[in-house]
Amino acid sequence: MAINVAAYNLIREELAESGATLVAVSKTKPASDIQALYGLGQRDFGENYVQELVDKVPQLPQDIRWHFIGHLQSNKVKYIVPFVHLIHGIDSEKLLREVSKQAVKNNRNIDVLLQVHIAQEETKFGLDAGELGGLLNNFEAEPLPGVRIRGLMGMASFSGNKDVVGAEFRYLRSLFDQHAARTSEGLLFDLLSMGMSGDYQLALAAGSNLVRIGSLLFGARN
Ligand SMILES: *Cc1c(COP(=O)(O)O)cnc(C)c1O
Repeated sequence: MAINVAAYNLIREELAESGATLVAVSKTKPASDIQALYGLGQRDFGENYVQELVDKVPQLPQDIRWHFIGHLQSNKVKYIVPFVHLIHGIDSEKLLREVSKQAVKNNRNIDVLLQVHIAQEETKFGLDAGELGGLLNNFEAEPLPGVRIRGLMGMASFSGNKDVVGAEFRYLRSLFDQHAARTSEGLLFDLLSMGMSGDYQLALAAGSNLVRIGSLLFGARN
């Protein structure tokens, strides 16, 4: 196992221009790889699986900001709320309510992003535009304690067609802009999480300020 230092430095340079934050996606990779990237100054790491994340946290420095980027089940929220920095994949009101409940229990304020379905593939999770508007309207009418909605997250189609992928990112950006004007309690739209190893440049061009990159940094996953 080895991290790709050259790729890391290059990505850091590219991101410095836009001011976007890099989340290094370390799912399936050993704690030693995370430690190596941490040694280069990286502090934001993303994981997809609750058990894997909970196992890794005690092995690694305490000032790491852990991003949960996977599909989160309500019954597992309680395991990550004590330490998580940002939950990217909120895709239902039920899940948001559970985060609120656990946040209050743990005396924490948890920042979350709402996941929007922007890809053509049926299998990707997320709200559609109507569901997003509905959830935000309900939240404005009845803010949930302990949670702050910081913006949106999305995954583009797994496609080599840059026009398709670019259009999907621009669509998410337009939804972000549309809702960024909301200013109620518990709403602060300042984060737009989009872009992975294969498409982060297109995402940055569309206005992403949070990219989630795994394989370019850590190598391909098995
Ligand atoms: C795995 C994963 C990534 C990183 O993917 P790479 O192609 O390895 O950069 C980003 N976002 C989410 C939601 C993921 O599940």
